[in-house]
Order: sequence, then structure tokens, then C-alpha cells
Amino acid sequence: MAYQSINPYNNQVLKSYPNASDADLEAALVAGHQLYKQWRGESSATRKPILHQIAALMRAHKAQLAATITREMGKLISESEAEVELCAEIADYFADNAAEFLKPVPLTTAIGPAYYRKQSLGVLFMVEPWNFPYYQIMRVFAPNFMIGNPMILKHASNTPACAAAFANLVQEAGAPAASLTNLFISYDQVASAIKDSRVIGAALTGSARGGASVAKTAGESLKKSTLELGGNDPFIVLDDADMQQVAQWAPISRIGNAGQICTASKRFIVLAQHYDEFLEMLKAAFAAVKPGDPMDPATTLAPLSSAGAKKHLQEQVDAAVQAGAQVYYGNQPIDLPGQFFQPTILTGITADNPIYDQEMFGPVATVYKVDSEAAAIKLANDSSFGLGSSVFSKDLDHAQRVADQIESGMTFINRGWVSVPELPFGGVKTSGYGRELADLGFSAFVNEHLVVAA
Ligand code: NAP
Repeated sequence: MAYQSINPYNNQVLKSYPNASDADLEAALVAGHQLYKQWRGESSATRKPILHQIAALMRAHKAQLAATITREMGKLISESEAEVELCAEIADYFADNAAEFLKPVPLTTAIGPAYYRKQSLGVLFMVEPWNFPYYQIMRVFAPNFMIGNPMILKHASNTPACAAAFANLVQEAGAPAASLTNLFISYDQVASAIKDSRVIGAALTGSARGGASVAKTAGESLKKSTLELGGNDPFIVLDDADMQQVAQWAPISRIGNAGQICTASKRFIVLAQHYDEFLEMLKAAFAAVKPGDPMDPATTLAPLSSAGAKKHLQEQVDAAVQAGAQVYYGNQPIDLPGQFFQPTILTGITADNPIYDQEMFGPVATVYKVDSEAAAIKLANDSSFGLGSSVFSKDLDHAQRVADQIESGMTFINRGWVSVPELPFGGVKTSGYGRELADLGFSAFVNEHLVVAA
């Protein structure tokens, strides 16, 4: 069976889930399409209290929801609780702001008055990854629920309990059954669903390979897609950086969620005068982590999400070293049965190293020494990815001038990545296209319906 919960802390198989049938998928499409028709006749105001109720239930069941994440994909329990809280905030935000975002936009033209109004389109297909197993769903769910696009979800095969918990919570809050249908289905079934005329588009968060496959299917059916893919985010330490601030953010920006964040800082690009100090600081922080049971609040290093994730990361580090990278710290086995990976610092990575332009999804920092700001910007942009980035400088104007030159969807000055409902999320280049959260959460799967009154 493809869908299975395995606790990466102790490798215990928690539960296997049978795949959904084609008949299950057809039933979801029928019910979703019917609900879309029903919702077309209702205002988003009818759904507002339900979305607030979803937020309230998330807070009420926080401990249980968080434990489900931690048991299934291994992240620290405090991180799981923060994820549940963030999901509740996103739900409240879209419940409160949808009416404003969806207001008709008046247009004044030479031929008379007109307006356009964002309307729902139909059933949306959602493909989501395991690293933030509720947050990834909520980023898509909340705005599309408010506008009236019913959703079918294919979640990652290693987080089926989280998928089921989220879908159950939506039902418990009183949403119509077809608002979100979670299905444990195969890639072939995903493709046939996206081709189906009742589905109007696909939203995927995940790898470039999965994204390309889903976007290809959507494109062949002339349907929209949004892709939130990987990153190899630069963290730039300028000559006038506050090194205390750098020390506050650099370690956690790399090893939060055991390094499994698309927007984690992965390439640390440091002006020469700060390089030695930076390396020593990062090494000390990495050496201080405490691996252990992620359910224990005293643990500070969680296991990776699966045996496959650990194996892949080890292969990348081995390939990097073989091609000339130096291990400044780490890359030693951790004597625990779970899928732990020691925080590792690699230096001496040249442009011909295989990992130079790869995302490493785990606690491995690559650190680069540069002689000038221009070299830092050039290196930051010498990547096929363009998701997040960070710039450190005590001078805000200076940091903004550098930020403007970075080819990424998001830049954070003097801090690492953060997600709040009001900030749009998304990338450029092979990190994908489309934006989620904020008002831009309503930009993809809508009909901007123009009505000319003249
Ligand atoms: P993945 O293999 O692409 O999996 C993500 C989801 O896509 C899973 O549900 C997976 O299903 C599904 N999938 C993959 N290929 C598919 C196909 N051909 N047809 C239908 N569904 C398909 O990604 P991952 O490696 O597990 O996740 C980590 C990646 O996600 C990293 O690259 C990370 O940077 C990226 N990510 C991006 C963001 C963002 O917002 N930009 C956020 C988080 C993670 P199965 O599990 O069944 O394979």
C-alpha cells in the first residue's frame, strides 16, 4: 500500500491506508461539481462562520493535531503546535478578509461604467507535500473555500493521517461534505482527475519533478496551475551586517523543521571579513543541538521525515565531498534508530560541484566566502531556484538595494523566512509560479468576470 504512516523517530509503522478507487474519485468529482453550482448561488458570507469554526477547532484540538504531525513526519512538537496555530490564523484571516478582497472593482472607461468581480471556477485539484502537512493544505484551502471552489486533495503518501485529520476537521466544523475531499490516490488517478472537465486547475506544492508532471497534465487540458516548488535560498551577510542578528537567525533558518523547508536558508554567502566568525558561530550552534524524541520539548534536533529522505541527503553530501567540498562540521552518524542527520557545514563548493545548484532538504548548510557585494549578488542569483532569500545589513537602504537585485520571490531583511497570512508566498524560476496567502491567494483560480454596463 502506498499510503503509510511511519514514525521516523523509531521507524514504527503506525498505519497503512488502502488506495481510493476510481469510483471514489468519480463520486468526489460529482459531489464537488454539484457543490460548486450550489456555492455559485451563495455569497462567501455563508462560509465565513464555518472557516472561523475550522480555526477554532484547530486551536481546540491543537495538542492532538500537533502530535499527529510529529508522529507521522517527525518534526519537533513545538514546531507542530506552531504550525497548527498558523493554520488557524490563516483560516481566520481569509474568513475576515474575503469579502473585501472579492469586492467588485469599479472601472471608469470612455464607453461608460464597468466592473469586474472575482468569481469561483469549479473543482480545484490540490497536491500537497509532507513537510508542513496542514499549513500546505490551508494556504490553498482557506481562500478557495471562501470563493467557492470545492477541492479534492491528494496529500503526500507519508502523511495520510494528517490529511485525514485535516479533512475530518473541515467536516466537524460543518462544511458541506464536498468542500474538501481527501483521496489516497495514485499519480495516474491524479492525472485523470486533472483532465476531467469538472476540474478547473491544479495547485501543487512539492518538487520540481512532481510539479512539472502535474503542470504538464493541466497545461495539456488548458487549465491553470500554481506551483510552489523547491528552493536553494541565499542568506547574504553584507559587510555592515550586525553579526549578533546573523547569529540569531542563521542556525535556525537552516535547521528549523530539521532543514526540510523549501524557504530555509541553504546557501550562506558571507563577505570575507565576516567569514571566519560566521563559520565558528554556525559550528557552535550546530554542535549544541540535542537530537532525540521530537515529542520531548527538550529535543532540539528532529529526525528527517523518512528513511528515503535521509538516504537522499547523505548521497548529496557524499557527492559534494567527492567533488571537492570540505566538511567544516558534521556529517557523522547519530547513534539513534530514527532518521537523524547531524547538522553539517560544507565549504569549498565550486560551480562544478553537483550540489552547487541542488536543493538539500535537510540540515546541511553550504557556506561561501565572497570578496565583494557584487560577487555576493552574482552568486545568489547563480541558481536555477528563486524562492526566498535573506539579506543582513545594519543599513536598511543598503539591504533594500541588495534585496532588489536578488532573483527570488521573497526577501527577508535581517531575519530568516517567516510565514504570516498577510504576506504573499511564492517563487520564480524553477521554484514555481503563482502566489498563495494575502490578497494574492485569490489570484489564480478565479474568473475575473468583467461586466460592462454601458
Ligand atoms: P514531491 O515528491 O513532489 O511530493 C509532493 C507531493 O506531490 C506529494 O503529494 C507527492 O505524492 C505528489 N507527487 C509527486 N509527483 C507526482 C506526480 N507525478 N503526480 C501526482 N502527484 C505527484 O516533493 P517532496 O520531495 O516529497 O517534497 C519536498 C519538496 O517540496 C522540496 O523540493 C520542497 O522544497 C518542496 N516544497 C515547496 C514548498 C513551497 O511552498 N514552495 C513548500 C514545501 C515544500 P507522493 O507522496 O505520493 O509521492
